[in-house]
Amino acid sequence: MAAQRDIGLYLHIPFCRQRCHFCAFYLEIGRAERIESFLPALEREIHLYGQQNLLGGRPLQSIYFGGGTPTVIPARRLASLLALIHAKFPTTQNIEVTVEAHPSTVTPDDLRVLTDAGFTRISFGAESMNEAEFVPIGRPGTVQDTSTAMAAATAAGFTNINLDVMYGLPGQTLESWNDTLRSLLALDPSHISCYALTIEEGTKLAHDIARCSVPAPDDSLQVEMDSAADTILTAGGFERYEISNYAKPGFVCRHNLLHWTDADYLSLGPSAQSYVNGVRFGNIADLRAYVDQLGKDTLPVSERTALSPFERERDALIFGLRLLEGVPRHRIGHHLAQGVHRRQLDRLIAQGLLEAGNEGVRLTPLGRRYADTVAEELF
Ligand code: SF4
Repeated sequence: MAAQRDIGLYLHIPFCRQRCHFCAFYLEIGRAERIESFLPALEREIHLYGQQNLLGGRPLQSIYFGGGTPTVIPARRLASLLALIHAKFPTTQNIEVTVEAHPSTVTPDDLRVLTDAGFTRISFGAESMNEAEFVPIGRPGTVQDTSTAMAAATAAGFTNINLDVMYGLPGQTLESWNDTLRSLLALDPSHISCYALTIEEGTKLAHDIARCSVPAPDDSLQVEMDSAADTILTAGGFERYEISNYAKPGFVCRHNLLHWTDADYLSLGPSAQSYVNGVRFGNIADLRAYVDQLGKDTLPVSERTALSPFERERDALIFGLRLLEGVPRHRIGHHLAQGVHRRQLDRLIAQGLLEAGNEGVRLTPLGRRYADTVAEELF
């Protein structure tokens, strides 16, 4: 009998108080009337999927409230959503339940409501620990907010806390990045995600760079910053397990792992993208249309693609290569081990971007630097 595929649930909460200058996610400014129209629609979507047997009774291993900024929604409403999910889906006993939060959007009382409701992990968007670096990226709030939120989350009972930071920010130097990393370590999180700033078309930051009011990221400086993060965080007791992610022992993010180990994930909310049983499908990226469709008891799916066996293996390889341990040999499908992809793999190995052994295939340190290029080559 084939092993059951692992599965997680993601909820896209499409609200923020304001849009950061670099952000290209689908989101709306979190006005009360929008939130009030969204929540019943999301509950309806949970009900509709709960009635279906799409997941075949498999228990959820992870639930992730992402966005946007989920904590723009009152904590007791997030708690009600989580209770509804538990009522509609089976879950594993030690399920990981994450909520993303902007540090300035949570109070000690909110955090206590979340831990009491069963949230086990919180992820704060710190972005930097140097406030001057917030200005060109339009990130609201203060550095003190991050320290205060960390202390409050710990006091509320969260033991699994992630901090997101970015490198290559306008005006950021190697020295200020190193200071940010050391400040993060002093806050004692269990997980740190370091993302290279990328410039997304149509964002205010792209516009500011085009008219030269803000400098573009410097590729070679970003490479040095990536290397500094590896050195400082590893020395600080973290293990790098994915290109952008570091965890203390026992705190690897299960939700992230589902994406990189060819597992299934059902995603709810406007613009959310799912992958279940070899089919990729995405919700409509429009709040009003999302609410309208669910008002008619119709799932708001706007696109659906069934992958061929070859495409499934190819995607599993591309995503799996993000993990430092790479892709084990038994996961490299027979379609990839021959024909065009065999030649592409051999070329990437010859270029020093991939290394292959008895255990499987993985990116080299050079390959990690050019992971997007490797993915494009394999696609
Ligand atoms: S808080 Fe996060 S999701 Fe919201 S606008 Fe800023 S980067 Fe985008």
